[in-house]
Amino acid sequence: MLTLDDTIAAVATATGAAGLAVVRVSGERAFEIADRVFGGATLAEAPSHTLHHGWAFAPGRAHDREARIDEVVASVFRAPRSYTREHVVELACHGGELSSRRLLAALVEAGARLARPGEFTLRAFLNGRIDLSQAEAIADVIHAATERAHALAVSQLEGGLSATLREVTERLTDAVAEVEARVDFAEDVGGVEVPPHVVVMIDEVAGQLDAMLESVAYGRAVRDGARVPIVGRPNVGKSSLFNALVGDRRAIVAPRPGTTRDRVSEAIEIEGVRVTLSDTAGLRATSDPVEAIGVEVAEQAIESGALAIWVLDASRGFDDQDAALAARLASRRVLVVLNKVDRGQRVAGEEVAARLGDACTAVVRASALRREGIGEIRTHVGRALGAPDRGRHLEGPITNARHAQALERAGRALRRGGTVARAGAPGEIVVVDLREALTAIGEVTGLAVGEDVLDRIFQRFCIGK
Ligand code: GDP
Repeated sequence: MLTLDDTIAAVATATGAAGLAVVRVSGERAFEIADRVFGGATLAEAPSHTLHHGWAFAPGRAHDREARIDEVVASVFRAPRSYTREHVVELACHGGELSSRRLLAALVEAGARLARPGEFTLRAFLNGRIDLSQAEAIADVIHAATERAHALAVSQLEGGLSATLREVTERLTDAVAEVEARVDFAEDVGGVEVPPHVVVMIDEVAGQLDAMLESVAYGRAVRDGARVPIVGRPNVGKSSLFNALVGDRRAIVAPRPGTTRDRVSEAIEIEGVRVTLSDTAGLRATSDPVEAIGVEVAEQAIESGALAIWVLDASRGFDDQDAALAARLASRRVLVVLNKVDRGQRVAGEEVAARLGDACTAVVRASALRREGIGEIRTHVGRALGAPDRGRHLEGPITNARHAQALERAGRALRRGGTVARAGAPGEIVVVDLREALTAIGEVTGLAVGEDVLDRIFQRFCIGK
């Protein structure tokens, strides 16, 4: 996987009818290979960052009309001033599937190897142009489903996270060097303990990591989206609320209880998070087999959802079945919607909240029929997902679970190191914790990752990126 010796090629654009398609070649032999299929200037002699118009053809058959592929523009990037830091040629041909596919086949015939998913970006990382967190940000930019997710990915790509982690790494590396030097020259410096200013620094860095991890739940929701099932007994207005939130009438609304048998899903955006709402079958014991399937799906939706919206019919009383449902929901995070308040309110929000305990994120009074309370429900969903209050700026939240886990480990190691250092432990002991923190941080920047981790990360990429 990690070979840099050969020259790789791939179509970099999505397939289908389009104005242009781009085929990329990267590696030591990029110019030589591209020259075999390109009739125009000799790319091997062209200066970097120049464009050349010409025709592409099957290798070595420039004069054979049958071998012509398409009219193309070749862009020349000489190492190290390219995406991968290698020699790169980008051939822009016409869109549609055939030109680019034939062009790629010609390049392979001329000596290139088909690139694996993410291999261009992997090379950019291995050649030191970007660190691993930046490489991962490129996939996030491509997959971003909301503007906020895109903005966070772009800021990570710019190197916001990399710069912070580089600074932290430098401080910890200096600390390790200083502590180790003191251990080596213990007699001259009068002791092997960790000097106070280093202990202060360890605490500071641990605090800095904590602050970065503070908004991790929201960051992950922005990057990965969130699933929010709408649950409740039949006929309380789940489908109506789903429609009100989604803004059209997709789910079937029927006056007879138990008619929403399928789970209907729709994604909406709340506070920059792609929220997939699902309208679930009414939760109640049922003997109808079709409905039973829907109920089972609804139960699964509650299990897997980070947050559930529980709809109650406020115009009817709170009974044993509601109490049973409350008990089942109490291990989740639940936003309670007292629906149909236009018909009066016989359920006390406080009672429902008390039954859910900590699981209850908020209680909202609403009328799905009259579209009342919908904005408030959106606000509370956003809050439950950890969105910052209006006007509060988030300092580059961590959006990636892998990064979060690594930085949590680093933080734990530093706190442990700080504690033993304050207790007067010798420097060698504290250094073990500092090194562990450095390794964990290195997993984010890519200084300390194995090939298996890289494999997993780059599989997420598309071919040609
Ligand atoms: P579901 O079974 O929980 O999905 O409930 P539906 O959305 O199908 O609604 C059941 C019935 O309640 C329908 O006749 C809706 O028009 C009615 N309904 C839903 N929301 C409201 C509301 O806020 N007020 C009133 N008065 N009726 C509602």
